[in-house]
Amino acid sequence: MQQTYNVKCMMCGRGAGYVRAGRFQQLVSAPRLVQRNRRSHCGSCGGNVYLEAEDSPLVPPAITVLADRRASRAS
Ligand SMILES: [Zn+2]
Repeated sequence: MQQTYNVKCMMCGRGAGYVRAGRFQQLVSAPRLVQRNRRSHCGSCGGNVYLEAEDSPLVPPAITVLADRRASRAS
């Protein structure tokens, strides 16, 4: 079973896409993420983005960090 995470902006709350099996998929309707300091930022406001598990409101921090590293390496 593969966990899917929504990628959302902390600042404006926009969804930018999702991560599935460690790969980021951009939403067609969303602004492109901006790469800065080897991290992804919201393409709309420049805020930090975070991962939110699609089937759960809470994501353990360790899983968030791991998924974020995979997403960074893939991009
Ligand atoms: Zn934003």
